[in-house]
Amino acid sequence: MAGFFKKLFTKFSRSSRIDWEELEAELVAADIGIRRAMGIADQLKESKGLDAENLVESTREVLRRAFPSTAPSLPAPPEGKPLVILVVGVNGTGKTTSAAKLAHLLQKQGSRVLLAAADTFRAAAVEQLQSWADKLNIPICKGAPSQDPASVCYEAHTQAIREGFQYLICDTAGRLHTRHNLMEELSKIRRTLAKQDASAPHSTLLVVDATTGANALAQAREFHKATPLDSVIITKMDGSGKGGVAVAIMDEMHISPSFLGTGEGAEDFEPFNRDRYVDSLL
Ligand code: GDP
Repeated sequence: MAGFFKKLFTKFSRSSRIDWEELEAELVAADIGIRRAMGIADQLKESKGLDAENLVESTREVLRRAFPSTAPSLPAPPEGKPLVILVVGVNGTGKTTSAAKLAHLLQKQGSRVLLAAADTFRAAAVEQLQSWADKLNIPICKGAPSQDPASVCYEAHTQAIREGFQYLICDTAGRLHTRHNLMEELSKIRRTLAKQDASAPHSTLLVVDATTGANALAQAREFHKATPLDSVIITKMDGSGKGGVAVAIMDEMHISPSFLGTGEGAEDFEPFNRDRYVDSLL
């Protein structure tokens, strides 16, 4: 919605007239979910003394309040054990990149982080994680080609415990055409991780691509059924997408974003902040 929304407000301001239909259509197109879009439009219509000028402020406030004041942060690593993070999502959303960026962020904060390449189905995915690991100097545990992803996670978990890592980040597979198998695979990974620490994985993060709009919401629904999600990482916030899908996921599933991907580089990753996010939408 970003640029267009601003233009729309400027147009309303100039003509001192709010075109409600146009506003509603733009809100719907922003992927924030139809119910929320209608709700905002209705709420604004009912507001007294609302003019085109303060429309932006009112919209910003409504969207801000859709999110908790503090975004979910990662729990602290348990005493003497690594905090295990499972990164899940459909191929192409930016899952591998986000796993590497998150590892980089934690490492910059002074933590010892191990990456696990558990998408053994795609050689390219393992190579890609390896190349990030080399570039960012992050230790990585890889399995043999086609090794059972759960067994790669188990080995990585063993290594992380033995070598005193504070975080283990597992990059998982995301092929959609064998959805049932994928969901089985994720369940197996969870069970396997729990063998060495009953509370692992401690955090499951779904990666969704902001440019895919309502599809991202559908993916969140699907994954949440198979593996309980703690939060979402919204990638490609720098892209052509409207980015509003975080609102739709929050509204429907009560799952807040924890991080945003804002580019292809290792530093293009930031903890979710509702004020900054809403500003970027408007
Ligand atoms: P995966 O298949 O889900 O593991 O996706 P990848 O991590 O391979 O990413 C797919 C493509 O998206 C790559 O070209 C990444 O560089 C790109 N990508 C990932 N995150 C972002 C982001 O936040 N912004 C942009 N512009 N590109 C991203």
